[in-house]
Amino acid sequence: MLIDSHCHLLDERLNAEEEIARMPQDGLFAVVENGFDLASSYRASALAEGHEGVYCAVGCHPEEAAGFEKGHIDEYLALAALPKTVAVGEIGLDYCYEIAPRNVQKDVFIAQLEMAHRAKKPVNLHIRDAYGDAFAILSECRQLLKNGVLMHCYGGSREMVERFGEFDAYFAFGGVITFKNAKKDEIVRAVPKDRLLAETDCPYMTPVPFRGQVNRPAYVRYVVEKMAEILGISAEEAAKLTAENARRYYGF
Ligand SMILES: [Zn+2]
Repeated sequence: MLIDSHCHLLDERLNAEEEIARMPQDGLFAVVENGFDLASSYRASALAEGHEGVYCAVGCHPEEAAGFEKGHIDEYLALAALPKTVAVGEIGLDYCYEIAPRNVQKDVFIAQLEMAHRAKKPVNLHIRDAYGDAFAILSECRQLLKNGVLMHCYGGSREMVERFGEFDAYFAFGGVITFKNAKKDEIVRAVPKDRLLAETDCPYMTPVPFRGQVNRPAYVRYVVEKMAEILGISAEEAAKLTAENARRYYGF
């Protein structure tokens, strides 16, 4: 029983209907489609409402922060209230290319933490090259985090695992851990076993042995197998562990 805790099936490089139809034969119990702006959040919600085993997160990605408007909040809240919406996401800070200015990203991030709190949903965080600022904001907004925090595609240090642990955070890893020079073993081991999730972030971040091709939800299997190797447990145990953690975090 596998769960892909973070995907973008609606990306034009994938055929969402085909991928969903294949879920049983791929051993997938559930997938969580993440929105990255208002339009994609509507589409993610419609996909989830229409398919068993498909859930969604709605929110504005930091790279899209400049397009976020206060008037969108009520629309996001309406989407968040639907039964298949399991989180607000993906939201956060991305200083890698700074597509939106840092101050705009921070304001939009905080506005969405408040939104998630009102919606009583956990938050799927996309943090890239911004772990210090993200920690500062989460510390200030601690009272808004009671419904759960997930560090999606975790790329921070081992030390930061402990610091984010203050918020009882979950940590998801994807294809990167299968890369030869990833050096993620220590970080994966530093995460408490009941806080570890697997994801693909498809169509991005394709794991070995398909690195370089379009990623698919089914490839979460390779992420789970690598986690099992790192943790010294069987692939079945790693699948069960990560699926149970995802269900506890998302509440399905
Ligand atoms: Zn994503």
